[in-house]
Amino acid sequence: MMALPDGVQVSADLLAELDDLYRRLHAGPELSMQEHKTASLIADRMESLGFETFSCGGTGVVAVLRNGDGPVVGFRADIDGLPVAEETGVDYASTARGLLRDGTEVPVMHACGHDMHITCAVGAATVLAQTREVWSGTVVMIFQPAEETSEGAAAMVSDGLWDRAPEPEVIFGQHVWSGRAGQVEVSTGPAMAMADSWRVTVHGRGGHGSRPEQTIDPVVLAAHMVVRIQSVVSREIDPLQSAVVTVASFHAGLKENIIPAEAEFTVNVRSLDPQVREHLLAALRRVITAEAVASAAPEPEIEELYTFPLLYNDPVATEQLKRSLAAVLGEDQVVGSDPRMGSEDFGHLAAPLGVPNVYWFFGGMPDAVVNGDDPVPSNHSPLFAPVIEPTLTTGVAAALTAIMSRVGADSR
Ligand SMILES: [Zn+2]
Ligand SMILES: [Zn+2]
Repeated sequence: MMALPDGVQVSADLLAELDDLYRRLHAGPELSMQEHKTASLIADRMESLGFETFSCGGTGVVAVLRNGDGPVVGFRADIDGLPVAEETGVDYASTARGLLRDGTEVPVMHACGHDMHITCAVGAATVLAQTREVWSGTVVMIFQPAEETSEGAAAMVSDGLWDRAPEPEVIFGQHVWSGRAGQVEVSTGPAMAMADSWRVTVHGRGGHGSRPEQTIDPVVLAAHMVVRIQSVVSREIDPLQSAVVTVASFHAGLKENIIPAEAEFTVNVRSLDPQVREHLLAALRRVITAEAVASAAPEPEIEELYTFPLLYNDPVATEQLKRSLAAVLGEDQVVGSDPRMGSEDFGHLAAPLGVPNVYWFFGGMPDAVVNGDDPVPSNHSPLFAPVIEPTLTTGVAAALTAIMSRVGADSR
């Protein structure tokens, strides 16, 4: 068991300052790999606290505080916003706009709460910097860009993150979500799903809508593919395993009497087990190829868009952390949870070192919203607005507890 060491607390003054920082970050979100202002704000702040900083993986920032002998602990906060038009109505709502990579101008919002992650990490770092006499070791704060596109963690690793920062014995991370504010949820073992996304281009032969016999209709063909791949989970995967196949975009043609030459759809595949993933991907490839053969169509093109790794919470480190969190936040505020089929690229950070990681969720919604009749806005919703308190206090305390559980006096 541990509580925060004597003299370590999140003061009212600090919380007021963090409240202000959160509102500023919320009002100024930036898209993935374009987090320039966010990164410089973070670097300035961390340097003023006495951390050594370096930029890594484009717009990532790493901040290291060396405080004598002892364990090295990593903590990660992701920093990117999303192309969403904010509708929360809060007085610090975003009116920011940004450019997608194809040049399209879009509204930008911190619709996933990464602004809360930055604020909580800065809060924990501030307390660590102010209480160096009660802990010993090294803290590596990782402010990661581009979580939403699954690029940032891999970009930091390939930019030499672990050649430039001390290697931690464990890496922690957290995410705000639509659960009850004040509460923390932790899964043991598989915590978030592997995900693979493909773009499938289906080739046919175009022609007049009145002369189908002269065409190979890619709309009918692609429709068969979509329906048939939906039977892979129900007919080929063990019912006790978890798997999801979603086709969420489908485009073909311009006019009702012109059979197009091509159709295109994207498919997203999720699983919690590497063997299940392999089976799903092989089955999808088999069905897509075979349906094209069945229609006498050319071979379709499959483009792999991105992959998220499994997020696996090390069972030993997770149990230790849960005990520490319960001692600080209260037993009833720390609950176990099933794995989620959402995905995260957090796992890429610890993987090359072979060290454990632990990742948890903290709630952002007041009781009245959680218990209300209306659906609770989820992450990525234009209505996603975590209540600042007690969310902020909980996130700072959880981050601090995790780090202190390794470098604090009680842990040595
Ligand atoms: Zn997100
Ligand atoms: Zn997120």
